[in-house]
Amino acid sequence: MKTLRHIDFISILLVLFVFLLLFIFYSMYKIQEGVENYHNNHDRIVNMQLLNKGFDDFASSQNELVNYYQINQDIEKFRSLFIKLQETVKAHHPEEDALLTQLEWIRKLFEEKVNDLEYYKSLNSSLLSGYHFLFDLQRSISESKDISANTKSIVNETLFLLFQYSRGNYIEREYVENKLDDIHHVMRKNKNLLIENFYKQSKVSLDTISSFRQISNTIKESTIDKHLHSLKLYLHNRYDYYILGQQLIATFFFIATIVISIILFFLYLRSNKNQKELRAFNYAIQHSDNSVMMTDSDKNIVFVNEVFEKTTGYTEEEVLGKNPRILKSNLQDERIYKEMYKKLERGESWEGELINRRKDGSLFYERASIMPVFLNKKLINYLAIKLDITKYIEQNNILRQAASVFENTEEAIIIADANANVVSVNQAFTKMYGYTIDEVLGKDLSILHSGIQDTNFYQRMWDEIDHKDVFKGKIVNTTKDGDILPVWVTIKAVRDQSKRIVNYTAVQTDLRAIETSEAKADYLAYHDPLTSLYNRVSFEEFLSNALLMAKRNKEKFAVLFIDLDRFKIINDTLGHDIGDQVLIHVSKRLKHILRESDFIARWGGDEFVVILHDVASESLVATVARKIIDELKAPINVKHHSFSITASVGISMYPENGDDTKSLIKNADSAMYSAKDSGKNNFCFYTDQLSLQTEERLIIDTALHNALDNNEITMVFQPQYSIANREIISVEALVRWENEKLGVVSPEKFIPIAEDNGFIVELGYFIFEESCKRFKEMQKAGLSLQRVAINVSSIQFREPGLLEALLSIVKRYEMDPSEVEIEITERFLMDNTESNIKNLQSFRLEGFKVSIDDFGTGYSSMSYLKQLPIDTIKIDKSFIDDISQKSSDNAIVKAIIVLAKTLNYSVVAEGIETKEQEEFLRQNRCDIGQGFFFSEPLQVNELIEKFK
Ligand code: C2E
Ligand code: MG
Ligand code: MG
Repeated sequence: MKTLRHIDFISILLVLFVFLLLFIFYSMYKIQEGVENYHNNHDRIVNMQLLNKGFDDFASSQNELVNYYQINQDIEKFRSLFIKLQETVKAHHPEEDALLTQLEWIRKLFEEKVNDLEYYKSLNSSLLSGYHFLFDLQRSISESKDISANTKSIVNETLFLLFQYSRGNYIEREYVENKLDDIHHVMRKNKNLLIENFYKQSKVSLDTISSFRQISNTIKESTIDKHLHSLKLYLHNRYDYYILGQQLIATFFFIATIVISIILFFLYLRSNKNQKELRAFNYAIQHSDNSVMMTDSDKNIVFVNEVFEKTTGYTEEEVLGKNPRILKSNLQDERIYKEMYKKLERGESWEGELINRRKDGSLFYERASIMPVFLNKKLINYLAIKLDITKYIEQNNILRQAASVFENTEEAIIIADANANVVSVNQAFTKMYGYTIDEVLGKDLSILHSGIQDTNFYQRMWDEIDHKDVFKGKIVNTTKDGDILPVWVTIKAVRDQSKRIVNYTAVQTDLRAIETSEAKADYLAYHDPLTSLYNRVSFEEFLSNALLMAKRNKEKFAVLFIDLDRFKIINDTLGHDIGDQVLIHVSKRLKHILRESDFIARWGGDEFVVILHDVASESLVATVARKIIDELKAPINVKHHSFSITASVGISMYPENGDDTKSLIKNADSAMYSAKDSGKNNFCFYTDQLSLQTEERLIIDTALHNALDNNEITMVFQPQYSIANREIISVEALVRWENEKLGVVSPEKFIPIAEDNGFIVELGYFIFEESCKRFKEMQKAGLSLQRVAINVSSIQFREPGLLEALLSIVKRYEMDPSEVEIEITERFLMDNTESNIKNLQSFRLEGFKVSIDDFGTGYSSMSYLKQLPIDTIKIDKSFIDDISQKSSDNAIVKAIIVLAKTLNYSVVAEGIETKEQEEFLRQNRCDIGQGFFFSEPLQVNELIEKFK
């Protein structure tokens, strides 16, 4: 607004400036015109004077042959000059009467002169013709014989005198007249016509000469020149006067222009400064730490700065034209806004805190100051300058909480300065020590020392604080009353930005109550609450002690890692209570088996660890391991269930398998896994399995690669049958490998190797194709088989395009995908679950059946089952094996069957070897069975033979 006013004033000045310039140009033009005009008139007058002079000269040239043409032209020239002069004078000085009179005079005199000149000319002509006549008479007279010589001489004299007179040669008229009288006298005496004519003509010429002289004088006496001169003078004066006037005006305008230029220049400087200020102001607002918002008088947003955008999340475009209400959180009392509006309406500014909402809905606190902006007493804007105080408020809250914690906590808190003198203590401190705050303020903390710990202890404590900025430990202090007060203390050094220590804080926990129950706590810390065996912490401590001892005494010892087989399924099917009871039984049995000096601990879950001291040989360890496995097998009765628990045991020996806790534990663990791999219910020494396995693996690995080319791979088929009526339903395809050197190699051995070296992919396609081909043969031979179950390794599923490839094989043998059941292992589901499940779904969508093989041995939980895209569950052989044990009530098998049925899966029991097992399964309504009891895996022709 301020600038607008300036601009207005400036533009007025600019217009004025332009006008003045125009005026200057105009007056210069006027001066120029005046000068030109004056010069023209001056020239005209001078010319007229010259012409007038010519007229006068003309009038003096009597008796001479005069140029009438020239004089006529001059007269016309004079006239036209006069007319021009008159016109311009009248045009430029219309009011000047004196000038006009002067002109009128000149005109009149000129006209008179012209008349006179005409008269002069006529006189001159008649004079000349008179002369001619006289000369003719004189010649006739002089030739006449009648006339006397005397008379002739008088005539000649008269003519001569007349001539002289006419030329003005100072001859008086009387003198000529006297001569004429003489002639007259002669004439009377002697009547002669010639003389008479001569006389008369002479008399006429004499009069003409007189008139001629008179008119010549009149012409010469004309005052035209005088008038022209005075006109010239007059015009000159007028010109001087006019020029002076114009110069004055031009000078005035010039000065005015200069003044305006100076004013404009200063205004420019000022507006430049204003503009710079405005720009600086704008910059300051844009880069201010505060959020700035400006609204018009109707409270519509017209400006916001960057900080506003940052704090609110709105961009400028989004809020322009909007009411600031968009930020309102509605969390504040409306009265605040009412008061704010009232104040602003009164033209006062308002300050206060607002809780607003960002664009994303989150809240923030602002300290706002809003003021109305007036210009020329008119309200034009509202300006709001706001500071985001969210952090400050949050920190304040934290501080308040901290203060509340400080005061209300059970721990004594001491804050000391850099010299360890007390600055502040909380209520818990005064309660604990009996000192009031005033009694300890400014005191050294050593007043609390009991003297039980020596100066070395405190020295070490301060060293630790200096180096690590923190000390944790037990300190024995005394209360004001002198009572011993053991505390657990955490002392921290607080440093400022330049890393200088400014404070120490100490948090102390009263240990008196804890120490009395320390024994109890100790027990809890080192024992497993469920089995009362030692826990993992104790085990690790014990193992490191055992290591020290063994190293010192050069003794051997063994670490046994015991893992219960398929324990998870007990927990899942029968609940944790029963699982816990089983674990308690197992732990009791383990304790019972082991010597007093052996150490036994629960590692976690269903895993136990044992340290056997001072073992002379590995065979002794093996004996113990076998004993463990055997003893655990005896049925365990929990509630009305009976369980037969098997375990896999991994063993590592000191010093052969490691000389530190970590590697001994790790090696025992991996030995345990290989025991599980080799069929569970087993034990395994770390060294043995490692060296043996690697060697064997290498041989199998190389031989496997040529197996297909050498036609060493064949397929056998094991029937799956209806337990209810003992009719064959389908077959499971099982691979067989017979190598020249290695003999028959179990798929359990070579399949994992083929999986490791990638050969499984090629082998898998062969198995699938061969199985389909054979299946078709069996069907054609008349066996009524619903489908063939084919084992597919998880590695095969990583092959892109597997589904399409298998589909095309199925098609080639004119089979329906539903005639193929793909067997996958539980482990497959456990790794990469999400994508594997999707994969399986796509197989099922194409019509393939899917079954989970060896169910119960992996770690998939039962509850997880219902999410799986499968058709069949195959209960692992190990569960079926349990059925043979009469004492066991086979709760797990029952539970699996029930669960599978409720989830609508069909159930296949694998590895049925006895009649009892089959009977049990029939009673529990297991649909399908597979096992040596019904049939071993057979070659195709054997199978056709047997079941046709
Ligand atoms: P699996 O898929 O669980 O196959 C069943 C295994 O149990 C077969 O052993 C079979 O001979 C055996 N079996 C069946 N009934 C009884 C019984 O009553 N008593 C006993 N003691 N055993 C019985 P096999 O053929 O040695 O196969 C072992 C494992 O090797 C299979 O377990 C499977 O995981 C894998 N395998 C076998 N053939 C293939 C195959 O073609 N492809 C893939 N990927 N894996 C295969
Ligand atoms: Mg199978
Ligand atoms: Mg199986």
